[in-house]
Amino acid sequence: MIIAVDGPAGAGKSTIARLLAAALGFLYVDTGAMYRAFTLKALRERVDFSDVPALAVLARRTAISLCPSGAGDLKVLLDGSDVSAQIRTPELTNAVFNVAQLPEIRAIMVEWQREYGKRQSLVMEGRDIGTVVFPQAEVKIYLDASAQIRARRRVAQLAAKGIGVDEAQTVREIEARDEKDFTRAVGPLRRAADAFYLDSSSLTIPQVVDTLLAHVNAQRSK
Ligand code: C5P
Repeated sequence: MIIAVDGPAGAGKSTIARLLAAALGFLYVDTGAMYRAFTLKALRERVDFSDVPALAVLARRTAISLCPSGAGDLKVLLDGSDVSAQIRTPELTNAVFNVAQLPEIRAIMVEWQREYGKRQSLVMEGRDIGTVVFPQAEVKIYLDASAQIRARRRVAQLAAKGIGVDEAQTVREIEARDEKDFTRAVGPLRRAADAFYLDSSSLTIPQVVDTLLAHVNAQRSK
């Protein structure tokens, strides 16, 4: 069974998808981590973001794996090394659109993401999971929240990791990322027509998880 979770940056997709996966005994796959890890690789190798053929060659010789680690978390391995922390810095976050807007790179990422679905039941989160990666997913969820709330959550999340950022600046960055996610030509963030829409702005994490589990169970018993 495939559960696709899409939505804008900071809507709580990672937290919720991880908890849903744990409750169902499914694998959790964070596709944003894959785009982030490849962006890190391109920066390290100093490949120009405008050199698409070189980026595509680089992607073909890059190994990104997502390994379940304690507490339902994921360890992100780039060519075997743990880059889980390096891919979450604000600088890297703001650079990801450079690769995420390229059809050639998205095609490779989508291929890797579909591989996961061949092996086991999973909860996969991203922007184009219910629309492009698994349009046939049994359950599609679109998780939303206001930009203000999403920024506040992101500030708290980074603070917990010892990274201090300004809230107003974070709202601007989130809105800029939304704009890029919604308007890119390939794999834009869109709510699939058959997705279950949930605005989590005024909900607690347990409320969101309970609502979604009830939806998943209703779909399963159909
Ligand atoms: O979800 P996360 O914020 O970690 O994603 C990082 C970036 O990767 C996003 O800004 C988005 O542009 C891109 N992304 C994407 N397609 C996905 C997942 C993430 O374009 N399926």
